[in-house]
This record gives sequence, C-alpha cells and structure tokens, in this order.
Amino acid sequence: MDIMHLDQTYIAPTYKRFPIGIVSGKGSLVRDVSGKEYIDMGSGIAVTSFGIADDEWIAAVEKQIRSVQHMSNLYYTEPCALLAEALCRKTGMKKVFFGNSGAEANECAIKVARKWAAEHKGPSCSTIVTLENSFHGRTLTTLAATGQDHYHELYQPLTPGFVHIHAGDMDALEKLCETGTVAAVLIECVQGEGGVIPLDPAFASALDQFTRDHDILLMVDEVQTGNGRSGRMYAYMNYGLHPDVVTTAKGLAGGLPMGAALLSDKVQDVFSYGDHGSTFGGNPVAAAAALSVVNRLTDDFLDEVTAKGNLLRSLLEGQAGIESVSGLGLMLGMKTVKPAGEVVAACMAKGVLCLTAKDKVRLLPALNIPEDLLRKAAAVILECAHP
Ligand code: PLP
Repeated sequence: MDIMHLDQTYIAPTYKRFPIGIVSGKGSLVRDVSGKEYIDMGSGIAVTSFGIADDEWIAAVEKQIRSVQHMSNLYYTEPCALLAEALCRKTGMKKVFFGNSGAEANECAIKVARKWAAEHKGPSCSTIVTLENSFHGRTLTTLAATGQDHYHELYQPLTPGFVHIHAGDMDALEKLCETGTVAAVLIECVQGEGGVIPLDPAFASALDQFTRDHDILLMVDEVQTGNGRSGRMYAYMNYGLHPDVVTTAKGLAGGLPMGAALLSDKVQDVFSYGDHGSTFGGNPVAAAAALSVVNRLTDDFLDEVTAKGNLLRSLLEGQAGIESVSGLGLMLGMKTVKPAGEVVAACMAKGVLCLTAKDKVRLLPALNIPEDLLRKAAAVILECAHP
C-alpha cells in the first residue's frame, strides 16, 4: 500500500496500473508483494524474452557490469560491436545504430529516410507513408508517424511530413508517389498496439515490390514483433520482404533499455560523423544482455517459438467465449465475447497476467515459456473468457 501511495503521489499519472506490486520472479512466474504467484503472459510487453531473472542473461549482465558499465561513444567497447555483427549476420543488414527505445529506433529510421531522400531525390522528397492504426512511439515525430488520430489531438503541431494510408490500399500509395515526394514507407508486419493485426501477405508483397520499383525506402518497425517473437528472427522474414531499414527494441536486450535501427546496403552510408548520436546508445551492459538474447535465437529455438505459438492458438481458437485469434508466433490477440478488460482482470485474480490491445486480449509470453505453463495459462484464460 505504501508503494501504491508513493507512486500515486509522486509519479506522473501516465500509466493506469493494476493494484498489484511485483517484487520477484523466475522465468515465466512472477510473485507480488503478498506472495501470490502469477503466470506472466505479457513479459513486460514483449521485453523479457527469456523471462524474469534468466540465469544466462544474468551471467552476461553481471560479467559486463563488473568490467565496464558505461563508456561514451567516443571509445570502442566490445559488446556493442559484437552485437552489431550478430544482428547483421542474422539479417544481411550492413550497419546498426543503437539507441535506447523503440521510439528512438524509429526516430533514427526517419532521419535516415529524410537524409537519404534529400541527397538522392531532392529536399522536397520527405514524406514518410505509414499505415492507419499503426503505432510507432510517443515522441512528437513518432507520434506523427503513428496512424491513430486520438494520440495526436492535444500535441499539435507534430512533426510534418507523414501521411497515413489504409492497410491494403496500394492505389493510395501509388497516387501519393505520383507527386515524387515520398521518401519511405514504414510498416509493422503485425500491428501490436493496434490490436495484434497481421498485415495481409499480398499487400506486404505489393509494398515490397512497389517500393523497390520506385526507389522508395521500405522500413519495418519490428519493435514489438522482433527478436524471435514471430517465430522468425524478425517478422518481415515471414513475409519475404526486403526492407531497407529495420527498427527494433523491446525484447532485444531481454529487459534492459536498448533500441536499434538496422541499415541495409542501400542506406548504410547515409549517416556520417555527427549526424546522429545517443549518450546511452550501445551501452555495454545492455549490449551484453542483448548479445545473450540474440545468440540464443537459433533456428531450432525459433521453431520451438512457432510450435508454442501454434499450440497456444490451438488451445484457444474456437473455444467458448473466443471469437477469433490473430497474430504470429508468440504474439497473439484474442477477440473475446466478454470485454477484453474484464477477461484480463479475471485472469489476474486467478494468477495469470495478460495484456490488452484495443478490444483484444493480448498474449506475449516469454519465448522460452515452458509448455506446461502455457497450457495452465490457456486453461485459466478459457475459464475467464467463458461467457
Ligand atoms: N513501435 C512499436 C511497433 C511498438 O509496439 C512500440 C511500443 O509499444 C514502439 C514503437 C515504441 O517503443 P518504446 O516504448 O520503446 O519507445
């Protein structure tokens, strides 16, 4: 109660918190102040990729924190160089810029697109096209990129130069491009905050082809979908896309702040000294943590993520109270007959932590959640969703 009171007195009220205080955990189990145990089906909104207090992750963090916890970007440090190499090897990308969050990763992508287009196509070519119902972050520029008006209303003027089109509307994109002012298209392969809505594969392929044919950058926001969550290293790989920029954060460092923008050969040389920077970007502890995550995302492990995602989906789909299940891998959204908030509250009372996204119940468990916990959580969810 003291913590709740302190929090409500001193913390800006931007988060509607549930009335539980989490104090410890291991893997996919967490415990609150009263000692009650929960199965964690949210993993800090897709952050704790290998669960809470994972031994391998702790070892990597501890080793690094005992040598150098931070060094300015004026000097070389090993973890961020190794991490950049690992990310490039796994994706075929050529260069990485490290920041600390998803919004920063997208800010970086937007700067890359604007500079690339200014240099290659002229200064009037600055428009970034994004999709309606998208979510790209909460800075003023990434809010402008976000295709949901209710986030914009009281924060005008936002950064100009963003146009939102309806997912699937290639005609709108073609029309916009006739003006010669479109620099890039930024998409999520599965709209997470928008309600766990996967992009239609035909539209994704059309976008991929169109952007290549018209020399427009294709940028994929993998902040939520990335780092194994979709059952592939990045969700664009499920769609066979050829992005010029991939942004990621959340699960990358498994619980420490880290964001990254991965740059393809086409844009790898856009930035030069002084064009961009971040005091904490590439922090060695966060990078060591991320390396421990990324190195474990092997093909075999990712196949297990896919299998667990399929299992969870099969346990829920078609059951009483569940209207539909959407998503990829271990990123699932459930439309329930009862309001999503009601189902999440009932699950919490019965020891399962779930999330919402718009009108859906959203499930983002740790990638290594044991099958028995997945089955237990699904049984509780079904009980709570039963009309
Ligand atoms: N992009 C996507 C797709 C997201 O889901 C989020 C956060 O939910 C962001 C960007 C913003 O990330 P952050 O909160 O780390 O800035």
